[in-house]
Amino acid sequence: MVYILIIFAIVFVGIVFYLAQVVVMQLEQKADEEVLRSKHSYQDIIEQKAKAITEKNKLERESAQIFTLYEMTKEITRHFDEEDAFNIFKKKLKENITIADCRMQDEEHKDDNTLPDYQRFELRSKEKKLGTLLYKGVAYKDKRKFEILAHQFALAFRRIKLYKEIEALAITDALTNVYTRRYLMERFAEEVKRSGVRKSKLAFLMLDVDHFKKINDQYGHLTGDEVLKQVGIILKECIREIDIAGRYGGEEFCVVLPDTDSTAALVVAERIRQAILNKTIKAYDASVTVTISIGLASYPADGKIVEELIDKADWSLYRAKSQGRNCTVAFGMYNRN
Ligand code: GH3
Ligand code: MG
Ligand code: MG
Repeated sequence: MVYILIIFAIVFVGIVFYLAQVVVMQLEQKADEEVLRSKHSYQDIIEQKAKAITEKNKLERESAQIFTLYEMTKEITRHFDEEDAFNIFKKKLKENITIADCRMQDEEHKDDNTLPDYQRFELRSKEKKLGTLLYKGVAYKDKRKFEILAHQFALAFRRIKLYKEIEALAITDALTNVYTRRYLMERFAEEVKRSGVRKSKLAFLMLDVDHFKKINDQYGHLTGDEVLKQVGIILKECIREIDIAGRYGGEEFCVVLPDTDSTAALVVAERIRQAILNKTIKAYDASVTVTISIGLASYPADGKIVEELIDKADWSLYRAKSQGRNCTVAFGMYNRN
């Protein structure tokens, strides 16, 4: 009986021991699995962190690029001159990418320098080419960046050109292509002021087409318009860059000649008169020749303010008309009475 009990106890202990071992093994297995799971999720976290860092770097690069674009666009927008805008663009290029040189060629003032070792980026509007960016030595990694910045500059360049076109339209007489009366008067006042400060001379011409009414009556208003257009062209051909020609109204024109005394102004006036006289204007089926009369007043001899100079030039023009037309009269040549 005792033996049976002992055997029973041994078996019982063995079973308990076995069960304990099974439980321990299961617990160990669970713990191992837990460790493995933790290891996996740790690896996941590491991978996610690496991805997040890559993404962060990419975003940082992109935001730096956007910021550069924003800064450049903001700075360029402050300027209304192509050269100024280009200088900012060039500065930003040098700050942001590796580039050996970049130049701008404006289609309006194109030089013959072809620069064969340079690459080209066209600046254009929808209808026409406005200019070219000539560049060289852009690092391979920076090619895309260069294109983005150049594209942005092209937009700014287009905006400046458009602004200048609109500005020119606003101050240019649509028919004759000389300045409008309002703009001419503004510039006239500025030039008189400048002459006062610099103690220099200035001349003012008033021109009127002779018997223009007859041209209209004989050939029609469209031919009359063409005559005025041609007079505008000749007028501009006969004066310097710094002189200011405008349409005073109808068939009357004005020219402001800065830094010019009455003797030199008479020469200019006669040159204009002769050029118009010698031109055969072809309009539609007609060939027309016209003459003009000119009145001249000088600053400061004949007047020190705009109104006085206009009045004296107008009076001289009237004299030229009454004298038989097709001639120039300078105010100084006569007294008013
Ligand atoms: P004068 O030698 O005394 O200056 O004689 P005129 O015939 O030139 O002068 P007048 O002032 O009598 O006539 C000017 C004419 O110019 C009358 C007007 O119909 C015409 N005119 C004004 N503006 C225009 C224009 O834009 N186009 C055309 N075709 N004619 C115009
Ligand atoms: Mg008139
Ligand atoms: Mg007239």
